[in-house]
This record gives sequence, structure tokens and C-alpha cells, in this order.
Amino acid sequence: MPENRRGKLRLDMNESPVGCSPRVRAVLRRLDAQALSMYPEKGNAAQRMAPFFGLRADEMVLAGGIDDALRLLSDVFLERGRIALIVEPTFPMYRFYAGQREARICALRYDREMQFPLGDVLRVLRAVSGAPSVFFLANPNNPTGSLLPKKALAQILDAAAHTLVVVDEAYFEFSGVTVLPWIRRRRNLVVTRTFSKAAGLAGLRIGCIFAHREVARVLRFAQAPFPIGIAPLAAAETALRDRTFTRRAAAQILRGRKILEDGLCALGIRCFPSAASFVLADFGARGAEVTHRLARRGILIRDLSASLGRAGWARITAGTPAQMRRLLAELEKILGGNFSPRANRA
Ligand SMILES: *Cc1c(COP(=O)(O)O)cnc(C)c1O
Repeated sequence: MPENRRGKLRLDMNESPVGCSPRVRAVLRRLDAQALSMYPEKGNAAQRMAPFFGLRADEMVLAGGIDDALRLLSDVFLERGRIALIVEPTFPMYRFYAGQREARICALRYDREMQFPLGDVLRVLRAVSGAPSVFFLANPNNPTGSLLPKKALAQILDAAAHTLVVVDEAYFEFSGVTVLPWIRRRRNLVVTRTFSKAAGLAGLRIGCIFAHREVARVLRFAQAPFPIGIAPLAAAETALRDRTFTRRAAAQILRGRKILEDGLCALGIRCFPSAASFVLADFGARGAEVTHRLARRGILIRDLSASLGRAGWARITAGTPAQMRRLLAELEKILGGNFSPRANRA
């Protein structure tokens, strides 16, 4: 993972460029010696947090971010001889944790226009023998930004008679599309959410798994006794209470995304329609150079040429309108000016 990113304009890891609620920072400052000396009370926190999602505490499992949630799901549902289904390009940790469990990975792919291969997915899920144990599906997907409509998700869940479908809604606050209420009637559905993106708390590591209470019970049983610290618990609960902040932060980032999309288009750079807080852009042959030259100007974006198998693709996290204008001004200089491999080396 990249480090030494402090002080830069960080558009490479989909963190929130807006930051977190001031109320969260106030709550963290108020954590006193007694609070810090106690083991965290996760059950009470879940009792207070679940209603914000319209659910009960027994349908919720708190985890150290979605990363930790994925590890927990893999621990419980995958092992050697089992199959994990993914559709790539997607969030790389699905492959990572499934691989750690020595599960076999069935990887389908988005097509060149980043269309989701729904027919192939349904075929794999309906296979008479060798159905996957788990299907990890980010919605919206990272890095494509694409969003599957609920109708397609219903078809997937109907087809997944032997498969646990993990719908990773890390970017829900930007897409507005969720299948969370379905967990009550669909035991093969798990939904993950995080406080790392719209709530701006990636540094505290907290997220949640939502599932039918029977599934949630099994997951909780496989957790460490105190999996989440008191600071992330207090911060997450406060972030839920300060919904206005999160809503405004998401709206600001969506305004930034529009400026970014329009600006890239004006520069002749293609980007795919996004339902999340980032865009996937195609810089063509100039991709690696663009990423390097932006980095030298203190702006980080994520070059994805290697993972997408196509040179020149980069993912850019949307920031505030002002941050996007700064990025676009630099891009204009790089793309419009003395743009050649030799100039880059100088
Ligand atoms: C960023 C991201 C995550 C990671 O979330 P954490 O809660 O910070 O671990 C999970 N899934 C997707 C699709 C992401 O883009």
C-alpha cells in the first residue's frame, strides 16, 4: 500500500477528501481515562446503531471496516475445495481473502464497455454441481463505478440457491441504491457498509455486515471478543447521528464528480459513467506518464493499467469542486503542453 501521502491531494484510495463530522472529532476528544480503560461494549453500540439502518441489532455485525468483514466472511464460508465467484475488475480484497482460505476463484469479467456479464453470472450460480459458496459483488463496483439495478440483484439472489451473495455497498451514500431491507427475507444475502468513504473515517477502521439474524449469529460467533475499539465505535455512532454532515459531504463530492467528468470530457479523456465517489478514466498511451507527473505536483491518482490489463486507465477519487478544478488545471498543462516521454524524463 502507498505511504507518505500526508499533505498531498489524495485522490488514489477513495478516502473522503471532505473529512469527517466535527461532532465525531468532539466525541473522540471527550474519551476520558475511564472510557479508555474499559473493554468496548460492542453489543450496546449495535443496539444504538442498528435503528439508523432500519434494522435490529441481531441483524448487524460490527467489523474493523469492510476489509475485516470480508476476512470474517471468508473464514466462515470459504475453505479449500470451495469456490468464490467474483467479476473483475473489482475490489482486490475479495480475491485476496478467498485466496488466503485456499478457495478456488471463479473470475468472470466486465466486458470492454464495463458491462456486467449477468447471463454468465446466473449460469455459474445455477450450476447443478460446483456452485460457488460465496459471490462477492461490489455495488457500485470499484473501480468501474458501475451500478447494478435492483432487478438484476433480485435475479442473482433468485439464482443463488447454494451461494451466499455478499453485496458490498461501500459507496451506498453516493449511489442511493440498496438491497439492505432484503436481508430479512433472503438468507443468502449479506450486505456490507463502511464508515471509511462518505463518513470520512477510513483511519478508524469500522464497518458493518448486515444479514439475516441466523447468519449474523454465526458470523458474530467467529469474531474476536472485542473486535472494535472504543474510538471507532463512538465515532461511527456519532457519524450516524450526524446524518446531515454525511449527506452534505456526499453531495459536495458528487458535485466534484460532475466537474471532474465534464472536465475530463472537455480534455478528450473518456470516463465511464459512475455511481460512486470516483471515476475510471482512460488516458490511453499517456496514462502512466499522467499519473507520474501529477504525483510530482502533489496530486495522487491510482494507475490501474496493471490490474485492468489495459495501459492508460486510472481511477480518480472525486473531491470538492475546488480540488477538482486544481486537478483539471494540472491535467490541462500535462495533456496540452510539452507532452512527450522525453519531456517526462527531463
Ligand atoms: C474502499 C472499499 C472497501 C473498504 O472499506 P473499509 O471499510 O475501509 O475496509 C470495501 N469495498 C469496496 C468496494 C471499497 O471500494
